[in-house]
Order: sequence, then C-alpha cells, then structure tokens
Amino acid sequence: MPISESMVQDIVQEVMAKMQIADAPSGKHGVFKEMNDAIEAAKKAQKIVRAMSMDQREKIITCIRRKTKENAEILARMGVDETGMGNVGDKILKHHLVADKTPGTEDITTTAWSGDRGLTLIEMGPFGVIGAITPCTNPSETILCNTMGMLAGGNTVVFNPHPAAIKTSIYAINLLNEASLEAGGPDNIAVTVEKPTLETSGIMMKHKDIPLIAATGGPGVVTAVLSSGKRGIGAGAGNPPALVDETADVRKAAQDIVNGCTFDNNLPCIAEKGIVAVSSIVDELMHYLVTENDCYLASKEEQDKLTEVVLAGGKLNRKCVGRDARTLLSMIGVNAPANIRCIVFEGPKEHPLITTELMMPILGVVRAKDFDDAVEQAVWLEHGNRHSAHIHSKNIDNITKYAKAIDTAILVKNAPSYAALGFGGEGYCTFTIASRTGEGLTSASTFTKRRRCVMADSLCIR
Ligand code: NAD
Repeated sequence: MPISESMVQDIVQEVMAKMQIADAPSGKHGVFKEMNDAIEAAKKAQKIVRAMSMDQREKIITCIRRKTKENAEILARMGVDETGMGNVGDKILKHHLVADKTPGTEDITTTAWSGDRGLTLIEMGPFGVIGAITPCTNPSETILCNTMGMLAGGNTVVFNPHPAAIKTSIYAINLLNEASLEAGGPDNIAVTVEKPTLETSGIMMKHKDIPLIAATGGPGVVTAVLSSGKRGIGAGAGNPPALVDETADVRKAAQDIVNGCTFDNNLPCIAEKGIVAVSSIVDELMHYLVTENDCYLASKEEQDKLTEVVLAGGKLNRKCVGRDARTLLSMIGVNAPANIRCIVFEGPKEHPLITTELMMPILGVVRAKDFDDAVEQAVWLEHGNRHSAHIHSKNIDNITKYAKAIDTAILVKNAPSYAALGFGGEGYCTFTIASRTGEGLTSASTFTKRRRCVMADSLCIR
C-alpha cells in the first residue's frame, strides 16, 4: 500500500506524542504542582492537537468514550465517597450518558456560500488552551464531557476543579490522557494542579495563554469569570420550577417530577426544585406524589425543623446537599420507611425550602389560582437565572405562554427534567449549560472560533 503524506504526518505525530514527558509529579497524567507548569504542558499538547486530522481527534474521543464506560462505576463510587453527595447508581448512568451522547468532531461543521463572486466559508477553529472550572456536584461527568467537546474543536484544557472533588477529578483527567496516548495522541490534553485553590484559579484566569474560560458552578464563579477580562462561558445556578396545569396527565406528572427530582439526589442543576400547580389539581397531584411515588408528606413542624437543619443560620448546609430523602429526614429525627425517595409539602413560593436552590430531594408545592398565576409564580421562583424549567400540560397555548415568559435555556414538557440531557429525550448530552451567557447546552462547536475564508471570483463551479 502506498504511504500518503497524511499517513506520514500521523506517524510523526504519534512518535512526537510518545516522546513527550509523560508522568507528572503525582504519577498521574496531566497533574502538576504549579498552575503555570500545567498551562505550559497543555500549550505544548495543543500544538500537536492543532496539527492533527479530524479523524485523529475522533479516534481519541472514541477511546475516551470507551474508557468512560469501563470506569463508570469506579468514577461514580469515587464521586459519592469523596463528596458524600449523590448516589452511585445514577452517577453510573450519568457517565454512560456522557460516553454515549456527548458530541464529537461531527459537531464541527462548515457553512458555505458559493455564487457569481466566488466561494466563502465559515470554518470553526480552536481557541487554543481553554481554562475550565468545574463543580463538585458532577465532577468527573463535567471534566469528561468538557474535554471531549474542547478536544473535538482542536483545543486542550486546563481544569481548576472544585477542591472537594479533586481526587475524582484527577482520576478523570488521568483517564483522558491515557485515552489520548492509547489512541496515538499527546499527553496533557487535559491538565490540572494537585491542589486547586482560588489562587490557582486566579493564575489561570489571568494567564496570557488562556483566551477562553468555561465556568460551571454557582453564581460566584460565573461572576468571577465574567469579571476576568477574558471571554467567558458562564454555566451558572438554576432553580427549575415544574408547572402542572389542569390539562396535564396528573398521575404521570407526579411520576415524572419525582423521577427527575430524585435523580442523583437532586444534584443536577436542571432537576426539578419545586412545583407550581393550579389549584384545581393540587390535591390530586399531592395524592399521587404520596401514594404512588414514595414521597413523604412533611408536617408544618417537620418543615420548620428541616429548614433549621438544611438552611442553618440562613446558609445552605453543605452537609445536606445531595443527600437522599431518608438521610435528610433522619437529621430531624424522623425514621422514614425504606421506600421514601422525596419529601413533599404545600407552601407559599417564599418558603425558604422552595425559593432556595437546595440540591436535595425536597419538593414544595405552590398553589396557583389559575394558569396565569402559576406562570407568574414559576417565573418568580426561577429567579431570572434563565436556566431550566419544566411543564406538564396538554395545552399548547399554555406551554407556549410559559416558554416565552420563563425564557430558560431548557424547557422540558411532559417528561422528567433529565430528558433535557438526552436521557429519555432526543438530543445530545452536556454537563455545562451556559444559562448566563446564552450559549445554552454547550458542545464542541461552542468551544470554537468562527472564521470567514473568502475566495473572490473563483472556485464557484456551478
Ligand atoms: P460552586 O459555585 O461552589 O463551585 C463551582 C466551581 O467554582 C468550583 O470549582 C469552585 O472551586 C469554583 N469557585 C467558586 N467560587 C469561585 C470564585 N469566586 N472564583 C473562582 N472559582 C470559584 O458550585 P458547586 O457546589 O460545585 O456546584 C453547584 C452549583 O453549580 C449549583 O448552583 C448548580 O446549579 C451549578 N451548576 C450549574 C451547571 C450548569 O451547567 N449551568 C452545572 C452544574 C452545576
């Protein structure tokens, strides 16, 4: 078989990649003591990635998908053990979702115009080394998903992960680099520091070789990134309300809402955080929540006790975030039956357990006098995050009205919230939903620059 120029290039790149310094001080690929050294290594790796064919990038991504599946259970257990949040079964599913449904190089497309005056293309090129900040709620899921998209776009990535999930994050980063080396790519496609802090994050945000920062987390980090003077992709907090109107299949709505709300103990930012229901179906909904969906109906006294524990001193108690319903109930002295998955009660929208983004399986039901009132209350509860909202309704006029009023990056109709991530719904998966800066559900193309390439008066062969 004759050897083509591109085959020679492939071989040269593979050799170059293998010659790179492999192991970082911790013995894990991609892990450095100093942020500046991590960035330098990612920069060298990006030069190699930049020169690769799309086919080679896709080979690495295929290998990442395989390793993510092989390590799904280990990563899920590590995440739960290290952070104390979420549950292993759902975290395994989340890793499979990342492996199966995160877009790769097929997301990098070209737009073309051809006509009398020639041929013009818009092509998507890499930024270079991207800085990424990741949450403790979906640590490895976000790192794996971000890297697949960023690499497909021709970038490498420097992570400053949440310190509370550093072991899990390092495991994922090592796995990414092993996948790259195995597929003939370079080491250090994804890097981090042994001990991420606000200081290392500051170094990353100010570094001259980081042109783009993708921040996934609460309001503090998104504001910090948007104040950095760099281009920022801000995937911030949500507080998604689920609206149920009188036309809904109320029985199915109760089931869908509890399934979405309890997924990974309510850690996903898209998960149902409260219900707003029109008055005529509130009692029926509550009936199905309690009798068919393993919900515990909390009394006024139990709600007060929960508020004291969960929002101790008015601040979100981190020891309660991502815990299951029975553990939360045990914290207020209630020994709930083994089947209990979720805590429910009826209350006003201002109730602290409804208005705060708790990330726990607690669902307050707010009663609305009619549909317009329900929309108004749901919009209020979403706090202008423009992140996610859900509706259970058979009335398309109502759905349209709600969609316009709430104006969120995600709106799921008649399904659990996780349908938005392609789990029981159409579409691709991401764990970085850029609600605040408007990119929406990020994918490989989000991490590229648009370039116009013009040939005047030639190459149009029509
Ligand atoms: P968090 O805000 O505590 O931390 C997120 C990351 O930001 C961590 O790496 C943390 O170290 C860093 N950080 C925090 N403040 C910072 C600052 N001032 N400067 C630099 N870095 C800073 O969030 P968390 O508890 O890990 O995750 C839960 C939050 O993230 C929730 O509010 C949830 O809605 C949100 N979230 C959003 C998305 C999305 O796609 N929009 C996805 C997951 C989580």
